[in-house]
Amino acid sequence: MSFEQFQFIAQINTNISNCGYEHPTPIQEKAIPEVMSGKDILGLAQTGTGKTAAFALPVIQRLSKGPRGKVRALIVAPTRELAEQINTSFKELAIGTGLRSIAVYGGVGKNPQLEAFRRGVEILVACPGRLLDHLNNHDLKLNKVDTLVLDEADQMFDMGFFPDIRRILKHLPQKRQTLLFSATMPADIRKLADETLTNPQEIRIKLEQPLDLITQAVYPVSKRQKSALLLHLLKEEPTEGSTLIFTRTKYGAKNLAKKLVSNGFSASALQGNMSQNQRQNALTGFRDGTFKMLVATDIAARGIDISRVAQVVNFDLPSTAEAYTHRIGRTGRAKRSGRAISFMCYDDQAMVKAIERLQKKTIERITIDGFAMEETGEQQTKQTGHPRKQNRNQRKKAGSHRSGKQQRQQAGNTRKSPTPKRSSNIFGLGQKGD
Ligand code: AMP
Repeated sequence: MSFEQFQFIAQINTNISNCGYEHPTPIQEKAIPEVMSGKDILGLAQTGTGKTAAFALPVIQRLSKGPRGKVRALIVAPTRELAEQINTSFKELAIGTGLRSIAVYGGVGKNPQLEAFRRGVEILVACPGRLLDHLNNHDLKLNKVDTLVLDEADQMFDMGFFPDIRRILKHLPQKRQTLLFSATMPADIRKLADETLTNPQEIRIKLEQPLDLITQAVYPVSKRQKSALLLHLLKEEPTEGSTLIFTRTKYGAKNLAKKLVSNGFSASALQGNMSQNQRQNALTGFRDGTFKMLVATDIAARGIDISRVAQVVNFDLPSTAEAYTHRIGRTGRAKRSGRAISFMCYDDQAMVKAIERLQKKTIERITIDGFAMEETGEQQTKQTGHPRKQNRNQRKKAGSHRSGKQQRQQAGNTRKSPTPKRSSNIFGLGQKGD
């Protein structure tokens, strides 16, 4: 299947091939004809599926013919990074059409945004807070909007944006096309969809997880030893590619990035407490290879196109099995193999089981000599951070008196499955089944 079938104007086809897109992705195949026919869409799809172009291309096609100088397409997105990313896609795909787009979000000065409104824009990509601010100040009007896109609706809900969105909706014409995208569809998102969409076409696209290409491993470890284990793995078995590390909290991301830097690694954090500039620098630096490691929280990294990384480290496991699949999907792209490793503390065992149930397979356990999971939820608080500092009883309890091989065998036995032979490089690529 090719992009020709959609009969875009010649300029759009040129832009598509300049972006290097040869064939439409599954969501583009399904959504583009529906959006072009004017239908409302309820899209269950994640970042990484090509959903931005799935809505951007038909919007650009439609706007290329109509009047200029008024906002005619509004895209509402949860984070500044996602707004920038969507705006960049619109700009690239609309080159030569004369259409203007802008990303509008808080944390930066208002003046450039006001100037852009005065000059006139047709495509507005906005985060809810700053957009509402502009609307309340009568800086712009949305009464000519004929397409509204609500992107990453579930994340907007998680971030408490729904009241703002409902206020924004009051500024839009009743008669319009609405496209709502969400990675998950809990009741609150369904309710918003019922309120905003008319006879929507439902499109479900699973992120095509080449799970077979991803080597997954779980490292049992005590909470206190997680940082030491990470440093051990990074030092003993370095990798060529980039590493994306997930932590549960902003504080955790900041501290771990600091620790990596102080141990000589090129790393940056990506978390919500950083300024817009810092976040942008972290992302750009990670994408262009200045930073080999990025330590991020889910909320900061979600919806952002950080893909094609060599390995993902779940320093802290996510709160759902689906989020795990989403995280590890950032590696193993484009038929390249990747690696996903997860640290498992005592309290994480149920989550690991849930992940295995979802994937219908057992994930390899690897126990590194000197590191072991606490045997109860309490024990870790009494344990000394570094294995060398543990007393004999602690070591005995933690099992670190055994050899690495014995421990691996034991870990394998508890899973009632043989532990596959470990590769010499735990971050190594192209070692499927190691
Ligand atoms: P998205 O899910 O919209 O964030 O897109 C994920 C990545 O896929 C982005 O880097 C896009 O540039 C890229 N992409 C989108 N459509 C295509 C396509 N048809 N072929 C190849 N890459 C694409």
